[in-house]
Amino acid sequence: MEKVWLSSPHIGDKEKEYVNEAFLTNWVAPLGPNVNEFENQLTEYIGVEGAVSLSSGTAALHLGLIALGVKEDDIVLCQSFTFAASAFPICYIKANPVFIDSEENTWNIDPELLEKSILESISKGKKPAAIIIVHLYGMPAKMTEILKIATQYDIPIIEDAAEALGSSYGNKKCGSFGKIGILSFNGNKIITTSGGGALLSDDENIIKKVRHLSAQSKETATYYLHKEVGYNYRMSNICAGIGRGQMEVLEKRVEKRRRNFEIYKSGLEGIKGIRFIDEPLNSYSNRWLTTIVFDEKVFGSAMNEQIRVELERHNIESRPLWKPLHQQPIFSNCKSYINGVSDKLFNLGLCLPSGSNIDDNKIENIVTIIKKSL
Ligand SMILES: *Cc1c(COP(=O)(O)O)cnc(C)c1O
Repeated sequence: MEKVWLSSPHIGDKEKEYVNEAFLTNWVAPLGPNVNEFENQLTEYIGVEGAVSLSSGTAALHLGLIALGVKEDDIVLCQSFTFAASAFPICYIKANPVFIDSEENTWNIDPELLEKSILESISKGKKPAAIIIVHLYGMPAKMTEILKIATQYDIPIIEDAAEALGSSYGNKKCGSFGKIGILSFNGNKIITTSGGGALLSDDENIIKKVRHLSAQSKETATYYLHKEVGYNYRMSNICAGIGRGQMEVLEKRVEKRRRNFEIYKSGLEGIKGIRFIDEPLNSYSNRWLTTIVFDEKVFGSAMNEQIRVELERHNIESRPLWKPLHQQPIFSNCKSYINGVSDKLFNLGLCLPSGSNIDDNKIENIVTIIKKSL
């Protein structure tokens, strides 16, 4: 049987055209018309003033922290329930991550714990320098509460929207809420450039600064003049050509991922002890990955692993939910504010194949396999 992946690249009709154009016009370089057009598409779609396309989402987080002036020994608050790339850039600049657990409704940063951590940091004389929030699996975080706290204590938000391109909260797109937003176009994300990312902001100075840093901090001079450390983080005009084509099919990709979720849900929701994560009012999720959680009282604590193994036997890839960062060996010395939510989700949950290139009947087949093995 052909392998069913968790989330694999799904290329449309136009990507090759834009890439070919780059070859034909010799724009095989980290700048060029595809880069400019891709950045225009991003600013228009997300509804922000500026976008810089970069080599990865991780690079975008790194430059975002630098552009905000976060420095060695500063505290950066970061959602614990996420991919490690959300936090690694904090280490690149030798700042100290402090991990905050999630709330039950969206699985994203818990505003109450967030405020508690801020107050404790302030009482020790060290106000956090930034907050990294995530819209995990495409589900928007509780932005109203989070923004209120960030404003009250005047701490900038970096919004990790790597998994949430196409999601929105109220009438605003994810990626447009933070002082800085970041996107990822890695191969497994909702759209891809084969590998890439972007930094978004309404602040012209931040966009300028990040553009400068990402291109080796070259000053304007006929010779090579550098006044600060630079990075080689720009996206190539080839990759941006893929991105241009992908942006044209983004809405279709979101629709299909949302349909995947509906098929799983209608097939499995009648079963006692299987839980899906619903969209709160005024949230719209791109449903990047469909996730299910097995109630421990009904199934014990190993059903997610049993189902994963059973699917693997059918050549179908599924994965546990993200292992919280406060549980990662590399972060074992970091402070964290924990309420048990992400630990429980990690122990009991499973990500199901959710690519936009999986036929509906394959999803139905997966539902059947899960039902049988329960
Ligand atoms: C994928 C991802 C990143 C990193 O993006 P890359 O483009 O792979 O560097 C960061 N944060 C989250 C939540 C992600 O899922």
